[in-house]
Amino acid sequence: MHEYSIVQSLIELCEENAAVYKAVKIDKVIVKIGVLSGVEPDLLKIAFDAFKEKTICNDAELVINIQQLIIQCNECGLISKPQKIRYICKQCNSVNIKIVDGEEMYLMRLKME
Ligand SMILES: [Zn+2]
Repeated sequence: MHEYSIVQSLIELCEENAAVYKAVKIDKVIVKIGVLSGVEPDLLKIAFDAFKEKTICNDAELVINIQQLIIQCNECGLISKPQKIRYICKQCNSVNIKIVDGEEMYLMRLKME
């Protein structure tokens, strides 16, 4: 399952951060999941709970924020949040756009002790 490998690298990232800041435990792991990332929040939570035991994240809570799609028009520069997943500028109807956000999953913040 896709989510398991994501959680593995997420926990590795947490351990690296904890080492840098000399934290003894992590209370909260806050991630942002883009709507286009293909990551299922429910599966991610299940995978996290299964993997966190005996890691720095043993007592950590996973907080998931869903990031809506944000696009920018390459013609007129307008940045917009399409209601549906559409790749078209609502101002000039150009399809020459780039995706600004909503594509990936990011670790946003850790609450450590
Ligand atoms: Zn435009």
